[in-house]
Amino acid sequence: MLKGIAASEGIGIGKVIVIRDQDVTYEQKTVANPEEEVKRLHDAVDEFMVKTERLAEDMEKSVNPKEAQIIRGHMEMLEDPFMVSQMDDMIKDEGMCAEAAAETVLNMFKAMFEGVEDELIQQRATDIEDIKSRLLKILLGIAEADLKTLPPETVLVVGDLTPSMTAELNKDNVAAIVTESGGMTSHSAILSRALEIPAVLSVLNATATLRDGATVIVDGSNGVVINDPTVDEAEEYKKKQAEYFAEKERLRAYIGKESLTADGIKKDVFCNIGNPKDGIKAKEKDGEGVGLFRTEFLFMDRDSVPNEEEQYEAYKKVCDTLANKTVIIRTLDVGGDKEIPYMNLPKEENPFLGYRAVRYCLQNKDQFSLQLRALIRANADTSGNLWIMVPMITTVSEFKEVKAFVEELAAELDMPVPKVGTMVETPAAFMIADKLAKYCDFFSIGTNDLTQYIMAADRGNSKVAYLYNTYDPAVLRAIRQIIETGVEGGIPVGMCGEAAADPLLIPLLISFGLTEFSVSPTSVLKTRAEIARWSKAEADHIAETVMALETAEEAYEQLKSFVRG
Ligand code: PEP
Ligand code: MG
Repeated sequence: MLKGIAASEGIGIGKVIVIRDQDVTYEQKTVANPEEEVKRLHDAVDEFMVKTERLAEDMEKSVNPKEAQIIRGHMEMLEDPFMVSQMDDMIKDEGMCAEAAAETVLNMFKAMFEGVEDELIQQRATDIEDIKSRLLKILLGIAEADLKTLPPETVLVVGDLTPSMTAELNKDNVAAIVTESGGMTSHSAILSRALEIPAVLSVLNATATLRDGATVIVDGSNGVVINDPTVDEAEEYKKKQAEYFAEKERLRAYIGKESLTADGIKKDVFCNIGNPKDGIKAKEKDGEGVGLFRTEFLFMDRDSVPNEEEQYEAYKKVCDTLANKTVIIRTLDVGGDKEIPYMNLPKEENPFLGYRAVRYCLQNKDQFSLQLRALIRANADTSGNLWIMVPMITTVSEFKEVKAFVEELAAELDMPVPKVGTMVETPAAFMIADKLAKYCDFFSIGTNDLTQYIMAADRGNSKVAYLYNTYDPAVLRAIRQIIETGVEGGIPVGMCGEAAADPLLIPLLISFGLTEFSVSPTSVLKTRAEIARWSKAEADHIAETVMALETAEEAYEQLKSFVRG
């Protein structure tokens, strides 16, 4: 079994065709007639433009206009007068052949893009490589690999899938794609998702390991490639594939639709994200907003706190991606199980009950102010739908202190104060929810922590996992009370813990009055479909039955019987 990045979901089973890089080496020579060589270059550029426009038009039909822009971007890059004139100069001044001039200049641009930290800009380096290879092939008279006439059920295996290759694919004949390079946000990943072809990227030595004609299974949802599967494996995956198609077909009906209960009550299905790139996923997966941006991921895998500008860019990017939609960004939730080594938090006996989240932030106000200023500025500079959410609140004073700090910083910046709300994830916050509701613009229930604190069972300890159960009447009562208290207080109540995506719990949450369900991007359509299954009256009936039960096991069985029914 080979592993890689799960870049485009679904299961593809078929026969391998390995596309090897075509040889574009050429003999370096000094040209005798530079004028003629410049003309040869310009003719090649013209041919590149004509071919690329044709590719983009094909792509508009086979994928969509937005994705075709990626290919048109290649034309724009080469249309940059500076780029071709630099090639001209190298031919005229140094007697370089057209191939060498093109390669030298394009390599310079590639190095420039590679040097930028932003991954989306780095992606341009792949585009330049694609342009270079195609322009060299035109100059050298090498025909492009033919991807239009691949046999049915082809599993395409390539070193790097370039945008132009993807544009040429006859998607009906491609069961799956496997590459040796590329990440989640590479153009090849974006395009394979747009084409709905399962893809696993960055599989080490794929072109050497997978042989032409071999049968392989590509599980694009889990990043797995199985070479020469056994009969049992083939059966298992055929079954999974059929289930995947059936579910996808069922959920297709919910794309672009409002989230409504069976009797038409409007709900919101938002997304949980961990970085700005996930914002793109949230949009692609039809999320109606972001219900939780876990900003601690911006602070991890580095040596120091991200400065105000870096944070501002990250928050603004998500708001821009989700233009005009609500984006709820949580302030730093460090501590507990979320370690950030350079912050040097002391080792504690009970880290989940210790110095974490808002407790840390309020004792490190200089650092906290960087995040709050970045959030206030991002809110002011975008559509103004950025909401600030505070984790681990246990007292009214804590929340008031955060809110006052936000107001003070907004006044200094002379910018509007964003909405500020709290996660309700501690028993204390739940007990004083009515008092908190007076100061909070919204609640979002963090069931992951709420369950551990209500049940006094560490969420990561397998020995007490039998107690860590959201179906427990204690937790269900807390959830009901938080929602009802928020609704009475006139503020929106959402849920961003894992429970929001649990189909068994959705009727209960509808009955209690939850308005926003924040789930992982891949769960958006499923959650919308589950919401559509129940009317308020049906949900109330389920809630009444389940809330009368005494144990988590009874509640679980009862909920299962309703959902099956
Ligand atoms: C929660 O506690 O439910 C939650 C959403 O936050 P986290 O899982 O990041 O603690
Ligand atoms: Mg939490």
